[in-house]
Amino acid sequence: MNFYVMTLFPEMVMGGLNNSIIKRAMENELIHIEAVNIRDYTLDKHKKVDDYPFGGGAGMLMQAQPVYDCYKAILNKIENAHRILYMSPQGKTFNQEMARELSKEKNLIFLCGHYEGIDQRVLDRIGVEEVSIGDYVLTGGEFPAMVMIDTISRLVPGVLNNDTSADEESFSDSNLLEYPQYTRPEEWEGEKVPEVLLSGHHKNIEKWRLEKAIENTRLKRPDLYKKYTDSQNN
Ligand code: SAM
Repeated sequence: MNFYVMTLFPEMVMGGLNNSIIKRAMENELIHIEAVNIRDYTLDKHKKVDDYPFGGGAGMLMQAQPVYDCYKAILNKIENAHRILYMSPQGKTFNQEMARELSKEKNLIFLCGHYEGIDQRVLDRIGVEEVSIGDYVLTGGEFPAMVMIDTISRLVPGVLNNDTSADEESFSDSNLLEYPQYTRPEEWEGEKVPEVLLSGHHKNIEKWRLEKAIENTRLKRPDLYKKYTDSQNN
């Protein structure tokens, strides 16, 4: 799976993603991540990529030309279909379901805005899909792109050591949050690991985990718990 990130800060994107599981996935060629510097495509002799918004108002806007030329350069590298996602607080909110859907694509292009955003004309010309990571405003789209790439990459077959682990996690199809987990030592500062987890009795462990997942969801996310109970009643 190929991720192309259009950004003014390629080192930030690669520095944030080239670690741990995602780094290994890149090394094993399960995913390819390329941060492309929009500034490299400006025709301005001072390498400027932003200007004042027409009509006045605070801040600067990224100009259409460098963004469009950068996009066209990426298209030249892509053989198959792609989706282009503009990181924007005005977009549809990213979630695990969207991540699952996007993980089936071959090529994803992420467009990271900065300053006050990007000239609307180039967003319309490219036909971007706007995606937000939540109802708050960041200084740029780099963190949102990294959040999305990290989340999507874990769903690409082979990226996690154990392919089933993503299925059992919070926000998997069951609408349940995950159960609590424990590791060695069996006793820490007087606190013992629940007996059942040491029993080796897989059926009982499964039952305990399901009960805890239901309880966790009911306490922490009543909205999700309702979805779970509705799905059980249908
Ligand atoms: N003026 C814009 C508005 O009010 O919608 C906000 C611009 S923001 C300061 C600069 C850039 O950060 C945006 O173009 C976008 O790429 C990114 N960004 C900020 N918050 C975001 C969010 N919640 N989700 C995704 N991207 C975001």
